[in-house]
Amino acid sequence: MELLFATANKHKLSEAIEILGPCFNLTTPLAFGFSGEIPETALTLEENSLMKASFLWDMFHHPCFADDTGLIVDALGGRPGVHSARYAGPEGDSVKNTNLLLQEMRGITSRRARFATCVTLILSKEEIFLFEGRVEGRIANEPSGTGGFGYDPVFIPDGYDKTLAELTPQEKNIISHRGEAMRKLSEFLNQYCSK
Ligand code: IMP
Repeated sequence: MELLFATANKHKLSEAIEILGPCFNLTTPLAFGFSGEIPETALTLEENSLMKASFLWDMFHHPCFADDTGLIVDALGGRPGVHSARYAGPEGDSVKNTNLLLQEMRGITSRRARFATCVTLILSKEEIFLFEGRVEGRIANEPSGTGGFGYDPVFIPDGYDKTLAELTPQEKNIISHRGEAMRKLSEFLNQYCSK
């Protein structure tokens, strides 16, 4: 089955390929000739993932899915949350976002946080499904590690003493927010396809 994934992020694409396995041929909007911005202006992760998937469905009428992720920091009242990608400015620079987060967390001892992901799958106009995943953890005092992307260097998952950026991609997939949501997607698709 060919599935269109609403992303231009190579890390996310390889994570998804690894989780969904060889039965699903993942393709991207670029392969369909679309290189523009997919709108994500909603106020929740759930609505944003639906907005992105619906955008692709309306354009291509092809089975597709989209994810939206936010880093929710308790001491910051849930920020950066749905604004995680452009926290420090419209350019969406991960290093600037991470630095701003560390700056805002300076002196704060309560560092509880979680990543949450919503994935919306659209198989037809009537078949729209939502999958969610999350990983609990805390914000580190300083960045550490070179793997992953985004806020990975400053997020220490519960049960670990290192950041997500210090784990291998496989280790990250097993515990990550997107890993959980994508495994739910994978289980659903496998059942759907075996019907
Ligand atoms: P998106 O909705 O997946 O584009 O995620 C929004 C923002 O959250 C991204 O720009 C990243 O900065 C951050 N983010 C998403 N997933 C991850 C992750 O797995 N690790 C670290 N940061 C992430």
